Amino acid sequence: MPLTTYWLEHAWLDTHVEPGVALTVSMSGSAAGQDGRIAAVRTGVEAPPPGAVALRGLTIPGLANAHSHAFHRALRGTVQVGSGTFWTWREVMYGVAQRLTPDSYFALTRAVYAEMALAGITSVGEFHYLHHAPGGAPYSDPNAMGEALIAAAADAGIRITLLDTAYLSSGFGAAPERHQLRFTDGTADAWAERVSALKDRDGVRVGAAIHSVRAVPADQLATVARWAQDRQAPLHVHLSEQTAENDACQAAHGMTPTQLLAEHGVLGPRTTGVHNTHMTRTDVGLIGSTSTGTCMCPTTERDLADGIGPAVALQRAGSPLSLGSDSHAVIDLLEEARAMELNERLRTRTRGHWTAAALLRAATADGHAALGWQEAGTLEQGALADFTTIALDSVRTAGPAPRLAAETAVFAASAADVRHTIVGGRHVVRDGVHASVPDAGRALADSIAALRD
Ligand SMILES: [Zn+2]
Repeated sequence: MPLTTYWLEHAWLDTHVEPGVALTVSMSGSAAGQDGRIAAVRTGVEAPPPGAVALRGLTIPGLANAHSHAFHRALRGTVQVGSGTFWTWREVMYGVAQRLTPDSYFALTRAVYAEMALAGITSVGEFHYLHHAPGGAPYSDPNAMGEALIAAAADAGIRITLLDTAYLSSGFGAAPERHQLRFTDGTADAWAERVSALKDRDGVRVGAAIHSVRAVPADQLATVARWAQDRQAPLHVHLSEQTAENDACQAAHGMTPTQLLAEHGVLGPRTTGVHNTHMTRTDVGLIGSTSTGTCMCPTTERDLADGIGPAVALQRAGSPLSLGSDSHAVIDLLEEARAMELNERLRTRTRGHWTAAALLRAATADGHAALGWQEAGTLEQGALADFTTIALDSVRTAGPAPRLAAETAVFAASAADVRHTIVGGRHVVRDGVHASVPDAGRALADSIAALRD
C-alpha cells in the first residue's frame, strides 16, 4: 500500500496549534479514489523528513460546506443590483434554473466545486432539487442532473453528499408553479423510487432533503424521513428561513415548521435544519432535545436579509452546528465561521460567544458529521486524509505568534490564503492552483456566460 508523508509546519490538532507534524497517508482503492487515510501522526518533527511534501502555514482538517446550491453561483453580482427581499431574489434564481441542462449543470458545478477546493473545502453537501427537464419531463436517466453533480465533484476532487431534495408543492396545499415543475417528482413515493437508484460510491454519499415545509405536504414528510432512516443517511431541511413561511405554516397547520417536522418524525441526530432562523423557544427546545443539527449560512442569510438565527441558544440546547455557503454570495468557510460569531456580537454587544476552536469544529468535524462523513474532519490516525493549509505569511495573516494561528485563520484569513487542499491523500490544490481545473476563474466565467446567452 503506497504511503505519502506530508510535513505540516503548523497543525491544528483540535485544541491547539502543534508545530512540526508529520502525517503519513496510506493510499488504497482505485486510482481515482478518495479513500486515503491518515496512517500515522508524529509530532515534534522539526524539519520535513526526506521525501515528505512540506505544507507551510497552518494545516487544519478539510472544511465541510454543509449547504450548497451550486447553480446559485451564476447569480453572483447580478442579484446585487436593486433592492427587494428573499422572494424577489428567488425570481432571478428561477430564471437561471430554467436554462440548465445536465451538460451545463456539470460545467458550472465543476467550476464551482473547484472554487470550493481552492477555498479549502473538501466536502460539499449539495441540496439538489433541479431534477427534471424544463416543464417537468424526466430525462432518460431520471437522475441525470444528480449524476452531473457527482461527476463534477469527482472532477474537482472533493467529496459530495448529494442531498437529493423532495420538492412537491409551491406552498401549503398549492401545486408547483411553472418554474417549479423541474423540481417535482409528484409524490414523495416517486421521489424515493428515483433517489433509490443513486448509489454511494468512492467520495460520494447519497442523502435526503426536504426542501421546506412549504414544498413537501405534511402527509408526505414521513416518507422522506423513512427513506433516510432506512439507509441511515443524512436528512436536511430548510427550516424557518422566512417569517412568511412560519405564518403560512401556522395558518395551515396551527403550529410552527419545527413542530410540524417533529410531529412527522423528521427531527433527530441525522437531521440538519438549515438556517433555523425564526424559532420560538419551543422550537429551540425541540431541535436541541432531538440532537437535530443546525446549519448556519451567515453570508447568505445576511445577503438575503433573512435575519440572525439563535445559534447560541440552539447549540446550548443540544444542536451541533455546521456551516454552509448556500447561495455562494461568497465561497469562504472562514468568513462563514467568523460571521456567525460577529453577527452575535452585533446583536448582543458582547464578544466571545465561540472560540476559534469552536468555530473550526463547526467548519470541520461537525460539518462533516452533518454530511455523513463521521470519519473526516480531524487530523487523527484512521481519519480520512482530508486537510487544507492556510498561509501565515500573507498580508492578512502575517504578524501574530504561531500559537495564535487558529485565531488568525478564523478571524483574519480568507479563502485567498488557502495554499493547499488534500482530499483522501491526493493533492487537489497545490500552491494555490487547482490540479485538474488549473484556470478555475476561466471555467467559472465560461460556464456562467453560457447560461446568459
Ligand atoms: Zn438553501
